[in-house]
Amino acid sequence: MAIQSMAKHKTSDAARVIRQVKQLEAVGCEIVRLAVKDNADAAAIRRIKSEVKIPLVADIHFDWRLALAAIDSGVDKIRLNPGNIFKAGQVWEVAKAAKAAGIPIRVGLNSGSVKRSKGRDIPSAMCVSALEYIRLLEKCGFHDIVISLKASTIIETVAAYRKMARHCEYPLHLGVTATGLPYSGAIKSSIACGALLLDGIGDTMRISLTDTPEQEIKAAKAILGGLGLRHFGPEVISCPTCGRCEVDLVKVVKQIENRISYITYHKSDRPVKLAVMGCVVNGPGEAREADFGVAFGKKDGLLFKAGKPVRKISVSGCVSTLMKEVRRKHG
Ligand code: SF4
Repeated sequence: MAIQSMAKHKTSDAARVIRQVKQLEAVGCEIVRLAVKDNADAAAIRRIKSEVKIPLVADIHFDWRLALAAIDSGVDKIRLNPGNIFKAGQVWEVAKAAKAAGIPIRVGLNSGSVKRSKGRDIPSAMCVSALEYIRLLEKCGFHDIVISLKASTIIETVAAYRKMARHCEYPLHLGVTATGLPYSGAIKSSIACGALLLDGIGDTMRISLTDTPEQEIKAAKAILGGLGLRHFGPEVISCPTCGRCEVDLVKVVKQIENRISYITYHKSDRPVKLAVMGCVVNGPGEAREADFGVAFGKKDGLLFKAGKPVRKISVSGCVSTLMKEVRRKHG
């Protein structure tokens, strides 16, 4: 499952886009989509490509010739919207050029550009439209296809992808469109993408948020990490606190989260789990399940390692003690 995001600057402003793609790469983004609105955008892809490492996708709407220009500039994938580029001759021209360049085409449907027809609901209309487009591409011998079916509601998005997964074996790019600000957007995306990922559906994913693309990567990592599908760094579990907690647990956990955000896992790393608990009711139990844990009392906490109580630690020294243990574990 690869994590994707989208640059927010006009693509022809190559210097800013290069900076943003590099920032995204640094926080773990693996594919970046660029809006290609005109020939200047398409031409800028050549320079951007020469300065960044991760694959770039050209997002094309309305004008199929921009796809040809983006391919000519060396882009790694084309996204076409069947809602606004649909004439067979035009689609075939793009498919011919993509085939010659050896790059895939994403058939990217959004519920907003799909019309309900013949009484079909949105998920069915999206699937019918995507399948018709796929047949069009297949007719000219093009099979390097990725599909996305993003609706703006969780129910429609999940239904559309599940339906499509039953009908074809092409890779699926997951996402919910227009979800909103990070809090509600991440929740909507987690429910929809989480349900699909638990079904084994999905090959790439973008969490669309009305915020910086870095927030999108953070949310995507939290979803994949939470499902145990990928691990990007140590996992922290902490209790919600209640009237029994006698320390400032929120502050402690924020400090730990901040310190571990600088630790990036490589594929071979075994994920480390930290438990930070506010009292001895559930604290020792959870702390025992983790690689390292602390269950706080009134003035100090009990440190656990691999399920065994080790020693008492002070509240103020808790963060640095846990970080030392994490670093030791990662060599
Ligand atoms: Fe409350 Fe203790 Fe449970 Fe935390 S671990 S929520 S402090 S009972």
